[in-house]
Amino acid sequence: MARSAAIASLAGATLVAWQPPPGAATTLIRRAALIDGRGAPARRADVRIAGDRIVEVGQLAPNAGEHVVDANGLTLSPGFIDTHSHHDRGLDDARDAVAMVSQGVTTIVVGQDGGGSNLAALFSRLETRPVSVNVASYAGHGAIRSAVMGQDFKRHATPDEVARMTSRVKVEMDAGALGLSTGLEYDPGIYAAPEEVLALAKVAADAGGRYISHMRSEDRWFWEALDELIAIGRANKMPVQVSHIKLGMHDLWGQADKLIEVLDRARASGVQLTADIYPYTYWQSNLGVLYPKRNFSDAAETDFVLAHVSRADDIIFNSIRAHPEYAGKTLAQIALLRRATPAKALMDLLAEPGGSGAGIVAKGMADADVERLIKWPYANVCSDGQSTGLHPRGFGSFAKVLGPYVRDTHLFPLEEAVRKMSSLAAANVGLSNRGVVAPGYFADLVLFDPAAVADRADFGRAQAHAVGIHTVWVNGQVVFAGGSTTGVYSGRPLRREKTSPAPRVAIGLNARR
Ligand SMILES: [Zn+2]
Repeated sequence: MARSAAIASLAGATLVAWQPPPGAATTLIRRAALIDGRGAPARRADVRIAGDRIVEVGQLAPNAGEHVVDANGLTLSPGFIDTHSHHDRGLDDARDAVAMVSQGVTTIVVGQDGGGSNLAALFSRLETRPVSVNVASYAGHGAIRSAVMGQDFKRHATPDEVARMTSRVKVEMDAGALGLSTGLEYDPGIYAAPEEVLALAKVAADAGGRYISHMRSEDRWFWEALDELIAIGRANKMPVQVSHIKLGMHDLWGQADKLIEVLDRARASGVQLTADIYPYTYWQSNLGVLYPKRNFSDAAETDFVLAHVSRADDIIFNSIRAHPEYAGKTLAQIALLRRATPAKALMDLLAEPGGSGAGIVAKGMADADVERLIKWPYANVCSDGQSTGLHPRGFGSFAKVLGPYVRDTHLFPLEEAVRKMSSLAAANVGLSNRGVVAPGYFADLVLFDPAAVADRADFGRAQAHAVGIHTVWVNGQVVFAGGSTTGVYSGRPLRREKTSPAPRVAIGLNARR
């Protein structure tokens, strides 16, 4: 029955009793440096959790029998929300979601780049076999286009096909999609007319959803692609988000201020425009994406790619079907092995079966632009990551912002970084009751040491865990503590909220899980 308060000290290496004893109705996290997620300065506070909710914040005394966690001055903030994630890959087999929770991420938003489909099945699977993080999803334009057009996708859709896609978007919105995502640099989305995208996005808008886009171009036709996204927001009167915003071509480097002017002008004209961004100058995709016209054997185009988009020693192969031995090698190194010029090696690889689908990591951005864009007040942090592959962003993005960006180079205050990972991220994808530490919000929380937090993943070891994250709660339960996942799968599917007023008043302590 009622036990005396169990005290867990979190500052030391050992950590005990992070999970409440069976009789405890509530958990009190005491003596935290609280960052509430809305940008307010850190303050000393205690936080009480009942069931899956935060019920009280302030100077609180323990109740009899209450489970007490001593934060010992560490920083307590909302759990982080990754608005552009591919961590759903493999999540069925690795339900503890270590890549995410070890960075303090408690919610991932999937179905990105046009990829989400059959969300009713996804959400019901997450209910019967839950994972350690919350999962929300967009409906994917590309997946829907494939289902309707099959292999015959290299053309504009007919009005009848658009109508069939429309009804599929409606089904996904009814299942709880946040909105429509597109991947307009990828097959099959790249072949869609702007009118098709606009019409499908309108279905999402009519259902109260939003639009998020890996735009038609992140390099050659960047400004036109941005115009297309802004036009969708304006015409459909819907919130629009640029996925992983980047100036992804040497010729665009240094234009971050100009870009922010364009973004601010669109907002000032009434478009609800936001963006997410990851803190790396390398992107990860497939080889084919370097050629928007898919003219893989065009020598002039190849020279252009290597001179303007990404250089031969900045393109690293992750996986290529016919050549497992190339994994981790740059195009420049592969060209040497093949005794060919980089351009010839690139075209030869593209001509092989599966060549255009080869996974690559490539440097496409400048540090100064990434640092300028991530400071834009409407840009939230995302990872665009996954649990496998060569790119460190899947394990490092959030910790890299908190450590190198905030602590080491003072790019912005810690409170602003947390806002970009929590309340802003929640607002940018339409989640109204997560991302803030306040009564009534879900108890997704992260306790971390701002003096120690840092990413450890890099291109040599992309799966190295971040450090400095002490304890992570998802829906009131501890999923990560003392450097390890706990085997608790308290994440939930998050369907789009039909009405979304933010909770304002404390809910009663009788609200239990
Ligand atoms: Zn993308």
